[in-house]
This record gives sequence, structure tokens and C-alpha cells, in this order.
Amino acid sequence: MTPTPTPRQVLREVFGYDAFRGPQAAIVEHVCAGGSALVLMPTGGGKSLCYQIPALCRPGTAVVVSPLIALMQDQVSALRQAGVRAAALHSAESGASAAATWRELQTGGLDLLYVSPERLLNGDLIERLADLPLALFAIDEAHCVSQWGHDFRPEYLQLAVLAERFRAVPRIALTATADPRTRSEIVARLGLEQAAVFTASFDRPNIRYLLRDKSDPKRQLLEFLASQRGHAGIVYARSRKRVEEFAALIKADGHDALPYHAGLAADTRGAALERFRHGSGVIVVATIAFGMGIDKPDVRFVAHVDLPKSLEAYYQETGRAGRDGLPAIAWMVHGAADVPPLRRFIEESDAAPAQKRIEHGRLDSLIGFAETSGCRRRILLDYLGETGSADCGNCDVCLEPNQGVDVTEPARKALSAVYRTGGRFGAAHLVDVLLGGDTARVRSLGHDQLGVYGIGRELDRLQWRSLFRQLTARGYVVAAADGHGGLEFGPEALVRPLLRGESRLEIRLPPPARERRGRASGGATTPAAGAESADPDLLAALKAWRLEQARQQRLPPYVVFHDRTLVAIAERRPTGLDELAGLTGIGTAKLASYGEAVLEVVRRLSPQA
Ligand code: ADP
Ligand code: ZN
Repeated sequence: MTPTPTPRQVLREVFGYDAFRGPQAAIVEHVCAGGSALVLMPTGGGKSLCYQIPALCRPGTAVVVSPLIALMQDQVSALRQAGVRAAALHSAESGASAAATWRELQTGGLDLLYVSPERLLNGDLIERLADLPLALFAIDEAHCVSQWGHDFRPEYLQLAVLAERFRAVPRIALTATADPRTRSEIVARLGLEQAAVFTASFDRPNIRYLLRDKSDPKRQLLEFLASQRGHAGIVYARSRKRVEEFAALIKADGHDALPYHAGLAADTRGAALERFRHGSGVIVVATIAFGMGIDKPDVRFVAHVDLPKSLEAYYQETGRAGRDGLPAIAWMVHGAADVPPLRRFIEESDAAPAQKRIEHGRLDSLIGFAETSGCRRRILLDYLGETGSADCGNCDVCLEPNQGVDVTEPARKALSAVYRTGGRFGAAHLVDVLLGGDTARVRSLGHDQLGVYGIGRELDRLQWRSLFRQLTARGYVVAAADGHGGLEFGPEALVRPLLRGESRLEIRLPPPARERRGRASGGATTPAAGAESADPDLLAALKAWRLEQARQQRLPPYVVFHDRTLVAIAERRPTGLDELAGLTGIGTAKLASYGEAVLEVVRRLSPQA
């Protein structure tokens, strides 16, 4: 008998990594020793290794329950690339291949078996598994058992049977959903009362949060995307119609972009997902229908052109960026006008009043995040229950400080304009008046005769619009009761002190137009995916080589090697297999299959050659 390898040996030899991350080591040790566990870790935190390593260290086969076929296929391909004996059973598998998997299982030829919950629970699979030595059960995306969340899968409820039928087999449930309610539901429904709970920090330090005031979202998005050319990303929009519009816009600007929403035929959606996973630099423009199952590690940005419905949703959606740990951006434009439709949506839903109040509260937390003048990450982590963190240095507020300007005077002028025009006009017209615009409407209403006409030339149009939005968001002005989009004063207690100069107002304004031109809308420069010390030509050659390998084997490129590994190769320029073997993501099996070919690419691009 070969001695069982230690977790650290498996980590290095099979997966090619030198150290465990966060709570991974403790989880692996606990499960290897036969303990059950609940693992709460953010997307990209490294949940898979928490059960894959015990699967290889413990005798018998590990059974992994996973809700999505695409996820299973990726995991199985990646494991096979690393030389691990893995297979999947689900509805898309042919009868012949299922029979072959079953034979392997019975002869002890499988380290990991991935199954969909349906496949596990319907038919006699459970009975048959009962006769085999099992290393563990892993229940991935365990929040699917929660009726409260939006990924609820009724079949997951039946997984309770595992606790009863397989008392001696450790169970490990994993999820990236952090909230306490979901967590207690998982514990109760999967019978994990005795399990150890492991929680990693939910911070995603490699994600840069960049929020922008919404002025002209289409132009703003195109400017942002110009800084991201060639990178894969997701653009989230509120409705199908907006998705189609933005996808067409982005495509016309020369990007490889695809729409994705629930109104498209299933095979169109499948093809889009496939292109996103296998291509490089594909942008998917999507509604929230594009969500779970996006385990592509090299998504470089997630952009929101509309507000998500809660801060939790924002966190999950932006969390799809940068799973590989390399720099990624969460970009969002937001404005006060985004809020009323979301409020209406909540009001018009069938939910009970108490539920509606919860939804309004969730929306408030998102608005607070968008309007904050403090570090975005701190607000986000506070919300996730991790209090007391320091300013992050990697969000727009931290990176672009001193933008809060005293706008007390302009705000008083804005309020005067509202008052002098009778509290009946919208921001567009009020800005015309303040700037002394010579429009037909101004003249016909006689507004060029008012004292406020032309008194606001210190700000440009975009800045005035932003100021009005923020006055609205803060309640100084409100939509007039007649519903025609006019603005009138908010509560006197708020307005009067400002008008009298007894209170001051400081907000962030967009820069004046002359500074805006020629400056990337990213503002703070965009981090490139790849360390500066990697030779760009070599990195490009390695990526081209990887794409070819992936094509030949019909696999997503990241299953062959992650970007991080290619960056490490391009930095180190290994000259022999030994040196290559020490790099991140290169285990024994990948060294054997690809080592020589990679060294050849490095030689071909060395400066001396
Ligand atoms: P999750 O399922 O939590 O979203 P994954 O298991 O897919 O995350 O891991 C995210 C990425 O991090 C993967 O590319 C994985 O290979 C990598 N990874 C995980 N653990 C480690 C580690 N200890 N060292 C280096 N890379 C790791
Ligand atoms: Zn910050």
C-alpha cells in the first residue's frame, strides 16, 4: 500500500501551491480527521481545495454535490488536468459514460465523484453508494438549501438524508453567502449542528471599487471599457431592454460583447456562457439572470450601469471579478434617479408589508454605500459583519480623496432657482436658468428676467446636474407632488439653515469639463492583470500557447493554466523543469504534460535568442 500523502504534499504535488490560504489548513485538517464542517468563504477564497485535498488524503471516494453542470464539468476537467481521478454524474452525461463512471466507482478508481442533487437523490444511487467506501460528502453552494435566498433549490432540502444514512462519513458544506439567516438555515436543514464552522474574511482585497456619479452612462461606460480592452468582464443592467441596448452599444465600439438575459432561448444563453468561458476578452452584458455558476477565474471587471437591488447583491455580483486573486475592478455609475424605480418595484411586488420593509432597508444600505464619503470597502465589510477595518486604499474614495468640495454657495443658488421659478421645474430647466441659457423655454417663461438667471457660471452643466441629484438624494429638494418631475423644497428644517448660511454642505462633484477631457474615466489608473515585472511579449506568447492547448482539448483556457501561473512563468523565465516545478499552479501532472512545451515558449522568446 502506498502511504497516504499529507495535505501539504497534495497541495504542492497535485495543485502546485506552496501554502494554504486563510482557514484552508484548519479546514483540511479537521475534515481529514473525519470532522464535518460548514465553510463560509468569499468567492475566490479557495473553497474547492477544502474538500478536494481531504478527498485525496482519505481512503474512498469523495462525493461532491454541485448544483450546476457547467461548474461540475469545469471542476472535473481541472482535476483531471492535475492528474486526479474525477468524474461527474448528471443529466447531460450519456448512458455509456455514466456506466463507465459507475464501473470506475466500484473498482475504487475514483477519488472524486461530482453529482447533481437530482442524480444523487432520484433512483438508486444513494443505495449503491452505501456499499462503497466514501471519503466524504461535500455540498457546494450550500445556500441553495435556503428558501430565503434567491438560489433556492428544492432538491437541496432532501440532502438532509445524508446525515441520517451516512453517519460515519464527514460532510462539508460550503457557501459564499455570509448572512446569519442563511447560515442557520444551512445548519438546520443539512443536519450540521455538530459541525465546526470556519469563516474566512469576506474582504476581496484585489477588487478595486470605483463608483461614479451617473451623468451620461453610455459614454461613461465606453470610456471605462476603453481602459479594459481585451479583458473579460460582465456588465450588469436592470432590464432585458437595457441589456440589449448596452450590448449593441459596446459591440459597436469594437468590443467582443454578448447579451444575456432570461428572455433569450436556452441554447442562445448556453452558447453565450460557453463563449465567455472559452474566449478571452469577451464581455457579457446581463441581467442578474447571469449569476451563479460563473466560476471563470479571470473576469477582470464587473460594471453596473444600474443599481443592484441590495448591498448583498452588489457584493455577490462584483465578487465574480478577480477570483484568481489578480487585480480586478468593480465599476458602477449611480444617480438619485436610479432609486425611485427600485422603490416602486418593491412596492408593486406581492410581498407582505414586513418583507417590503426589509427590502427597502436593504436598498437603503446600498444607497448609503453609494453616497458615502468614506471608504467603500469599510462600509461593505461593516455590512458583512466585519467591523473595524481600516481605510482600504483601493476604492475611489481612498484613491481620489479631497473631492469633497464646499458647495454651500452653489446649493443656495440652486435652491433659489427652485424657489424663484415656483417649484415646478426639473433640474434640466433649472440648470439652464442658472447658466443663463438662451432657450425658447427660458424666454417664453420670462425666466431670463429673474434674479437667479445666469448666476451659476462657476459650475458647468454636468456639475450642476450632479449637485441637483445630490440635493435630491439628501432631501433638500423633492419631486413635486403633481408628479410631473418638477422639484420643490424638502423639509424646512433642512432647507432653511442652508439658505440662511447656518449650515454648510460638502459633496463630491465631477471635475470641470476641461479636466474631464483626455482623462480616462477610470480616474485612478486601471491595474493591469499581471505584474509589471512580467515580460509582456512572453506573457502574450504563453497566452497564445495556452489558447491553442485549450482549443485542442476543448477546455476553457484557465483549466490548462491560470493567468497567475503564466504571469509567474513570464516573470521567472524558468530554464529547466526543476525551476518550472516550483512555480504556482504547476503540480506533478501539469509539469509532465506541459513542462517541455512551456520551456520551449520561454526559450523562443528569450532576448539572447
Ligand atoms: P471559490 O470556490 O471559493 O470561489 P476556488 O476554489 O475556485 O474558489 O479558488 C479560487 C482560486 O484560488 C482558484 O484559482 C484556486 O486554484 C486558487 N487557490 C485556492 N487555494 C489556493 C492556495 N492555497 N494557493 C494558491 N491558490 C489557491
Ligand atoms: Zn477604500
